Amino acid sequence: MTHVAPEHPAYLWHNHHLLNWEDATGHLTDNWWASVGAVFEGIRGYLNEAEGETYIFRLDAHLARLSNSMRLMRMDCDSFPQDELRQATCELVRANGVAGDVYIMPLAYATGGRSFGAVGERVTNLFITSRPTTSTLGQEDHSLRAGFSSWTRIGDRSMPPRVKAIANYRNSQLASHEAALNGYDTALLLNHEGKVAEGPGSCVFFARDGRLFTPDLTSGILESITRDSVIQIARHVLGIAVEERPVDRTEAYLADEAFFCGTAAEVTPISSIDHYDLKAGAPGPITRELRQLYHGLVRGVNHHFPEWRAPVGLTGQPLAATRTATRVPW
Ligand code: PMP
Repeated sequence: MTHVAPEHPAYLWHNHHLLNWEDATGHLTDNWWASVGAVFEGIRGYLNEAEGETYIFRLDAHLARLSNSMRLMRMDCDSFPQDELRQATCELVRANGVAGDVYIMPLAYATGGRSFGAVGERVTNLFITSRPTTSTLGQEDHSLRAGFSSWTRIGDRSMPPRVKAIANYRNSQLASHEAALNGYDTALLLNHEGKVAEGPGSCVFFARDGRLFTPDLTSGILESITRDSVIQIARHVLGIAVEERPVDRTEAYLADEAFFCGTAAEVTPISSIDHYDLKAGAPGPITRELRQLYHGLVRGVNHHFPEWRAPVGLTGQPLAATRTATRVPW
């Protein structure tokens, strides 16, 4: 039997250094409590073909949320300044030399010390990966059938929903598995108050009578960067009113249209919820317009909000993918 090596990028970044993928190893036992407290980000970079440049969408906002997540987990944020992480991310994408869309994941984790030991005993580590990815933006017929989960979205009394902690995703997995087994494409979760929270890995918007509404930031949702972008696009580009407020389950059923949003989810139309077909179809007119605008914005084809796009610096620069050093000091 021939062994086929798994495809992986050439480089990743770990604790201030660009490393060959194969050299990024850790001790097996670090996998234990380190993952319970780990926090991460999911970030996308989009290729602008005409410019030959990849733009990372809202990189600063993602790094700010990573810092908040680390702070909440009492990690050492000062060892990983935002400027260093911004440069590291761009350098990594350039080094991996992908002429296409990329998915970037920084992950911070603590090692050492006892399981419930003093905070100061632990060392904060951080790695960043970047991989080629694909986008569903531009696929007209992409939509999801959602079902409300019997699992309740984690709440601030027990877990921190507003930050991106790995442990939170056990809740998301339970809801996703249940939805798939029940024949849905994905789940919607209610919070402890019985109001709509979000999907397993995305926020949710509804449209009714020409207005948009979405669960507010105290509804047990992640402080989503795409949600914030959608609100700004709707208000400032489309001139549509957006309400951020508690949302009832039955409001979801009676909505004209609905969509998920998130870095991975982008803007994804929802066609039905608990088998109630949404009245305006999927995508409804507001969702379609927002999706098109979002697509133009992330690629830098639409020039609104230039501060949201960080060029990785591919234009005019030789790709560093032929780099041979195994450990490049930052
Ligand atoms: N909620 C959850 C639980 C998520 O995992 C995500 C994806 N990060 C989102 C919402 C959307 O957040 P963002 O727009 O920042 O990607």
